[in-house]
Amino acid sequence: MLKDTDRIFTNLYNDESWKIDSAISRGDWKNTKEILSKGKEWIINEIKLSELRGRGGAGFPTGLKWSFAPKEIGSRPHYLIINGDESEPGTCKDRDIFKFEPQKLIEGCLISSYAVGAHTCYIYIRGEFFREGQKLQTAIEEAYEKNFLGQNACNSGWDLDIHIHYGAGAYICGEETALLESLEGKKGLPRIKPPFPALVGLYGCPTIVNNVETIAVVPTILRRGGKWFASLGKPKNTGTKIFCISGNVNNPCNVEEELGITLKELIEQHAGGVIGGWDNLQAVIPGGSSMPLLPKNICDTITMDFDSLIKEKSGLGTAGIVVINKDQDIIKCMARIAKFYKHESCGQCTPCREGSGWMWRMLERMAKGNASIKEIDLLSEVTKQIEGYTICAFGEGSSWPVQGLLRHFRKEIEKRNSSDPLIIKQNKNIPYLIDQHLLEEDNA
Ligand code: SF4
Repeated sequence: MLKDTDRIFTNLYNDESWKIDSAISRGDWKNTKEILSKGKEWIINEIKLSELRGRGGAGFPTGLKWSFAPKEIGSRPHYLIINGDESEPGTCKDRDIFKFEPQKLIEGCLISSYAVGAHTCYIYIRGEFFREGQKLQTAIEEAYEKNFLGQNACNSGWDLDIHIHYGAGAYICGEETALLESLEGKKGLPRIKPPFPALVGLYGCPTIVNNVETIAVVPTILRRGGKWFASLGKPKNTGTKIFCISGNVNNPCNVEEELGITLKELIEQHAGGVIGGWDNLQAVIPGGSSMPLLPKNICDTITMDFDSLIKEKSGLGTAGIVVINKDQDIIKCMARIAKFYKHESCGQCTPCREGSGWMWRMLERMAKGNASIKEIDLLSEVTKQIEGYTICAFGEGSSWPVQGLLRHFRKEIEKRNSSDPLIIKQNKNIPYLIDQHLLEEDNA
């Protein structure tokens, strides 16, 4: 278990105040000027040494991403964008950082902006986080009053302004290029890459987009050293991480732990165990709804880090752990997730726009026992026609949960549905019912 002395988010449960004086007493904004005086190269190298990987889902090395920003500021300004859209079901860690540790994020914004040559930083918050945004705005104003932001921030010679921008509730705006479109005042539609935002981003200017948690850990890494951070966790999966544990557990919570901790320890020690006991566990979604679920036999021993989960054909994603016990209908659960993705597809790519609806409708019928067993392979084929054939990773995010279900719970689907391929023809009402259902859904 993580030692208290290695904890970064010491006010994660708001045991103390989130206000700036309390944050300063906990060590935030300590020696910020000295850190900046060491220069961009030193900061980027230290982050590379820490092996910090992005905490928003993709796990891309942060130091490497920063090094993609042009070294000198040319005719176009540079921007740093903080992605606080946090729309992945099962995930609510950035929300607690906004609420209880805002100064860690704001200090991180200053240091990271300096490292990538940005004088303007936007924090993009999902619209539903209105109160969290208000708190963050207050925290930003407190930082301005102390001269930690604005002109000559922290007497470092670097100018930085931070602006908050609220989204309007679309899941896809968490995708970095859709976020940029939204920030520019347009519909949040993902852009085709390349060009990548590091060179052509906001308003066509060099832009680095990072998740809230990624930036909030930067000041502590630089104060304690990249080697310290790299000593936690596992090789290439270093440091601490906020895990969000929800679903059928006795004590849903957010907890900061070392990467590489076992899933069982997280659930048993921090979340009060599975409702009905560990043997009542059916499956776990380990990294937010877009990551494939894992059945109990894998959950017994799996460790929570990027590479271990990839080996099991899942992913750490946002570390939003959703526990599903045996009281739940697993097919229905996945149909519900498929419905979410069908609703959130932006509609630009045909495989995603059409396929997400197909997957949802097929799973709905499978959950009700109205499908033929032959359709299981057809459903699998549909997921493969989406994955890899779309503009953005939403295609994978919507098809992977279905693939996880088929990989681990195929027998459940077979048990419930007919081996007679004519079943659909026999029940003539089904297509009508489905269309009617869709119609009601779209009108809702
Ligand atoms: Fe939009 Fe889906 Fe294509 Fe992404 S994959 S751009 S969400 S249609």
